[in-house]
Amino acid sequence: MASDLHMHTNYSDGVLSPEDLIDAARNAKLRYIAITDHDTVDGVMHLYESNLIPSRNPYVIPGIEFSAHHPERSIHILGYNIDIYNRVLRDTLNEVVEARWSRFSQMVEKLQQLGYAITEADVLRFAGESKAISRSHVAQAMVAKGFFPTVSKVFDEVLEKGKPAYVHHYRLEVEEIISLIHETGGIAVLAHPKLIGDDDIVKSVIQQGIDGLEVFYPQHDQEDTERYMELAKSYNLLMSGGSDFHGIPSRFPNELGIFTIEDSYAEKFYQEIKQL
Ligand code: AMP
Ligand code: MN
Ligand code: MN
Ligand code: MN
Repeated sequence: MASDLHMHTNYSDGVLSPEDLIDAARNAKLRYIAITDHDTVDGVMHLYESNLIPSRNPYVIPGIEFSAHHPERSIHILGYNIDIYNRVLRDTLNEVVEARWSRFSQMVEKLQQLGYAITEADVLRFAGESKAISRSHVAQAMVAKGFFPTVSKVFDEVLEKGKPAYVHHYRLEVEEIISLIHETGGIAVLAHPKLIGDDDIVKSVIQQGIDGLEVFYPQHDQEDTERYMELAKSYNLLMSGGSDFHGIPSRFPNELGIFTIEDSYAEKFYQEIKQL
């Protein structure tokens, strides 16, 4: 069997509901999965509260993906096996989600000023259950309106850092994220290190207290994977990996089970789910 420790639901910028994601993982015969929505645990909470977490097939690990503050780079930190009801976690996430809302309004305003006739309602049509509004939702609305052929083209032209409709939002510092994950009993993993684009930054983040490295990732080639395995070994880190599945048809992987990791890596992240 195979596992996948990185995937998104419609509680952040993924397309599938958490229950449909679990069904898709079961159909793909995944053994361990982790739901890692951006800046929210609402999808995981929904599953717990509706009693929809299966006891196995697949085993579900509660997770999250935080974006850290950095002037130039995208630094994402995954948290596994976190206590989703932790008070400090809830308060902090509320603040971040709030900041995403005001940033979303500002992005729509900038796009309007650039001449694109797009409204907040157009974007919210793509937001599903998500309160953590993302550039990804904005990009999908821009494609639906016919302004760009693909989501990645929207990023390239207007939404990437430095492009005309980019708006920064409040993000936690790396150290804050790591201590928050630890405070909630979780494991902190540096996501997709290659996408940071500078291994010196990768090392400096690791030195701030990271527990694991996302060695296996669709955009890592064999050489990258080997380099990050060595790095993980030299810092005595856990190794993780996942597909970063969003369920967006034009984005690889467009289905679960295409990109997986060996169960032996994933099982280290799984602890018996607490009875709530
Ligand atoms: P945000 O967290 O709102 O800044 O949005 C970032 C999200 O947009 C990421 O999690 C990706 O899912 C998506 N994204 C970022 N860059 C690109 C890109 N070049 N093409 C497609 N999607 C992207
Ligand atoms: Mn995303
Ligand atoms: Mn990410
Ligand atoms: Mn992700």
